[in-house]
Formats: sequence, structure tokens, C-alpha cells
Amino acid sequence: MEQINRSQKMQDFARKSRHGGKSIALVPTMGFLHEGHLELMRRARKNADLVVVSIFVNPIQFGPGEDLDRYPRDLEGDLDKCKKVGVDVVFTPTPEDLYPEHFQTSVAVSEITKVLCGASRPGHFQGVTTVVAKLFNITLPDFAFFGEKDFQQLAVIRRMVIDLNFPLKIIGVPIVREKDGLAMSSRNAYLSDKERAAAPELYKALTCARELFAQGCKDCEKLCRAVSEQLDKNIETDFKIEYIEIYDSSNLTVLEGTITTAATILIAAHFGKTRLIDNLQL
Ligand code: AMP
Repeated sequence: MEQINRSQKMQDFARKSRHGGKSIALVPTMGFLHEGHLELMRRARKNADLVVVSIFVNPIQFGPGEDLDRYPRDLEGDLDKCKKVGVDVVFTPTPEDLYPEHFQTSVAVSEITKVLCGASRPGHFQGVTTVVAKLFNITLPDFAFFGEKDFQQLAVIRRMVIDLNFPLKIIGVPIVREKDGLAMSSRNAYLSDKERAAAPELYKALTCARELFAQGCKDCEKLCRAVSEQLDKNIETDFKIEYIEIYDSSNLTVLEGTITTAATILIAAHFGKTRLIDNLQL
């Protein structure tokens, strides 16, 4: 396994590999890797000749007062995990390499970034699409793997790839969960013992909505209310719901009234200072 930390060197390597007839799969991450990330890498391993994992805590996708400075990092541990799942190249650029002096270009997807997480994190998705577009141009992948855990992010990236004609295929990977149902996330490391014990309630409440849906309740408002009531009843620690909403799974448009298409229920909630997201296909 090779570690490359300069974008020029990474692009040269990718170009040579492609000229040599090798296909490339990219897995973009911010590091502090867990089983969710490793699952993306395993899928990538099956799909392409070369697997490139990027590890970069992207400063431009964090808003003022967010957790950029305390975002968990463990490069040594991450490299070890990448090696074990058969990654070929770990790309670890510095912020100065990706955003040199005079950098002033961005990529923005408009409508679908205004809702859900985009409503409370202005500029977040623009930071994501800008760095992902750069990573695509640097690593020249045939395939790029993203988790369904970040459901809106996946929709935004699919939109960008279509709209800007990026010549690659986006592959979404189902959420990997802890045994108790909590969606794996690098940010789970922030949770206190009490918060960690309460956090699986998110998944439990979403599962309850799915059961109601299966029993015939197709009303968006009722389903969302059932989730919020269950959370309020079962969580005793410092906890606040940011949103519970139901969206069309295929195009990320909000659903209201009676559900007649494939739908996904999405939640964002704060446990103390930690913001967690989750979603479930109904
Ligand atoms: P992050 O390092 O949090 O930016 O995540 C990097 C990639 O891993 C993104 O495509 C995430 O959606 C994906 N990911 C993170 N957590 C999970 C999970 N629990 N299951 C599946 N994919 C995940």
C-alpha cells in the first residue's frame, strides 16, 4: 500500500494507472475510520483494479462554531485498517495542497442542498461538492463509493455528477450499524456514556415508523410525530431533534400527506453538543 500526500503526485499516479488499463475506485473519507468506511472499501475492492482512499478533514465544509478543530483523527490506525482491507493507495493531502493561496473556485448544487442538513449548515454541501469534485479530478476514478448514512450528501453528489458530466459511476452503500442499531459515525466518539446509551433510540424510533408504515399508516405527519413522541418518551439525557422528515428516496423531494412512492425517513438530532443523523427506507 502506498501513501501519497501531494495532489500532483496522486494525479500522475492515477493517469498512469488508467493508461495502463487499470480501473480505479475512490472512497472519500475524513478518517477516524470505522466499519462503515471499511465496508465502502471492501465494495470498492470488488469493483476495480485499484482502490484509492482519501483521508482529508475538509475545512471548507465546516461552519463557524462546528467541530473542525476537535474532529477525531488517527492516521496511523487508519493506514493500518486500509492495509488490512487491501487498499492500494491512501491519499492524504494537506489543506494547503488542496486549497493553496488564491484558491477561489467552488462547485454548488442549488435546490437539494437547501433542505434537511443544508438548512442548518449553510455552505456545508458547497464545501463537500467542491472537495469531491477536486478529488474526482485528482484521482480520476471509474467508480466512487459513498455511504447511504449521509443520504442527502449522496443525492447531492449524484446530482453534481450528472449535471457536470463527471465520467464515473457513483455507488451508494447501505448504512453499517453497531449491534444496538446506532449508525456508525466518527462523531459517535464525542458521545458521553449516557448519550451513547441513549443514541440507539434514533434507529429504534425510525424502525417504529417503518413498522407503522408496513401496518398501513401512510401519512407523513403521523409517522414523523410517532418518531418524535417515541424519542421524547425514551430519551432522558440532553437531547434535541433538529428535523424528522420524509423524502422521496429517488430524487430527494420532500413528501407531504399520503406516501405513494418509495420513501425515506430522515432524522438529525443533537445529543448534548454532538449532532447525529440517521435515515431508514420505509
Ligand atoms: P466521513 O468520513 O464521515 O466523511 O464518511 C466518509 C464516507 O463514509 C461517506 O460516504 C459516508 O457516508 C460513509 N459512511 C460513514 N458512516 C457510515 C456508515 N455507518 N455506514 C455506511 N457508510 C458510512
